[in-house]
Amino acid sequence: MLESGRVVRARQRVFGVQTQERRTYQAVIGLEFHVHLATRTKMFCSCRVTYGDEPNTHTCPVCLGHPGALPVTNEKAVELGAMAGLALNCEVADRSVFARKNYFYPDLPKGYQISQFDLPICTGGHLDVPVGDETIRVGITRLHLEEDAAKNVHVGESGRMHGSVGSMVDFNRGGTPLIEIVTEPDIPSPEAARATANHLKAILQAIGVSEADMEKGQMRCDANVSIRNPDGSFGTKTELKNMNSFRFVERGIVRELERQREILESGGRVEQATVHYDPVADEVHELRSKEFAHDYRYFPEPDLLPLELTAAWVREIRERLPELPDEKKARFVRDYGLSDYAAGVLTADRDLSSFYEEAVAGGADPKQAANWVSGDLRALLNESGTDVSGSKATPGHMVELIGLVEDGTISRSAAKDVLAAVFETGEAPSAVVEREGLASVGGDELSGMVDGVIAENPDEAERVRNGDKKVVGFLVGQVMKASRGSADGGRVRTLLMEKLNGG
Ligand SMILES: [Zn+2]
Repeated sequence: MLESGRVVRARQRVFGVQTQERRTYQAVIGLEFHVHLATRTKMFCSCRVTYGDEPNTHTCPVCLGHPGALPVTNEKAVELGAMAGLALNCEVADRSVFARKNYFYPDLPKGYQISQFDLPICTGGHLDVPVGDETIRVGITRLHLEEDAAKNVHVGESGRMHGSVGSMVDFNRGGTPLIEIVTEPDIPSPEAARATANHLKAILQAIGVSEADMEKGQMRCDANVSIRNPDGSFGTKTELKNMNSFRFVERGIVRELERQREILESGGRVEQATVHYDPVADEVHELRSKEFAHDYRYFPEPDLLPLELTAAWVREIRERLPELPDEKKARFVRDYGLSDYAAGVLTADRDLSSFYEEAVAGGADPKQAANWVSGDLRALLNESGTDVSGSKATPGHMVELIGLVEDGTISRSAAKDVLAAVFETGEAPSAVVEREGLASVGGDELSGMVDGVIAENPDEAERVRNGDKKVVGFLVGQVMKASRGSADGGRVRTLLMEKLNGG
């Protein structure tokens, strides 16, 4: 358990970074996530869940909303929903009810979405989120099951409805199983909001509930944003939408907090509204609040029986929960002797942690592998904008690369270039070393170079013999220069000291 004092300190510190001089303004942020569940079929029919297929090729009378078609609940979706709730420390309800959420939109052929209202499947959890070097606890208000709407495709340059030539509907997405996760307004800063989204994604991926790929629309995030009043009471919140990457979640909230602060500073009042983030202009736009004043007239879905979830069923699912990122992190620290930081970086990404574990299983030194994977490899992934699955460097390459450094074939700095080449081409590290002539000089050749440098610098050599350590670096530098940077600095130093001090 976190002590509350620590949480409060984390809040002040984190928000202090965002507001700098304005510590009296305190951000209050809650997030709402919509996450596609990794089922084979849709929520209430047997149509396949797909991404990128020809439009309207996975439809049936149920997901097209034909009158009289009857929905049947996808058991796997219920199971994955419960599993997500358990991983977020929620209570799974023993009885949960589907409800109709009524509204009209072209992507919703029934005129209502099947969702959950007063009896969601999960309530009352939390997740502990690392933000910088602190951990904050974010409460989970509820998690409920629902179906996704279809997808509107707007024809025209902007890709948006405004200014489009026409709009079409792709019903392939209609009926895809979703969970909606709503957090408490516990998040103190835009940075913490991004960290929360990242942490949630890592958990959902780790337990196999969702691929949670934002680019595919498998994970979407809205934010409720307000500024706490000076007397400590809550300010008016706005709903921030349209943030389709975690970076935009952070940027959008930054902009919205700025907008609210300007209103308050000029003596105005923040109106309850929906606000859209425009990532291109990096601006927020308030939409007219009337347009979004919904009354959904929820009522229990008459075509579906309530879910009755027994304690035994919940227990069985809890037992099947795979290792969570926090547990994996603790294991990495314990079993591989990694720092908290390195273990955190590796386990924040399921694929990166698997890559690491495969390299270690292949014989790589755990600490060396952690440095390479969490440092150089991750930097290459970030630069190229790809994830681990798109990397041509394999765990096997990593084992070989670390081996080449360890046995002195290449220097640490040459190894960085080798990794970059392997990452690009997928060639074996040894092949790159050979092709590029990166092997460090060693053996007799290096020994000869050291002798040469000692002979050319008799004064410095004598000073080292007399215990003056300050000129060792100079002599090492001379040898490095002679080898045109290919020698390993550590080996050169050892060799020099051996020769000058007689071992
Ligand atoms: Zn269908």
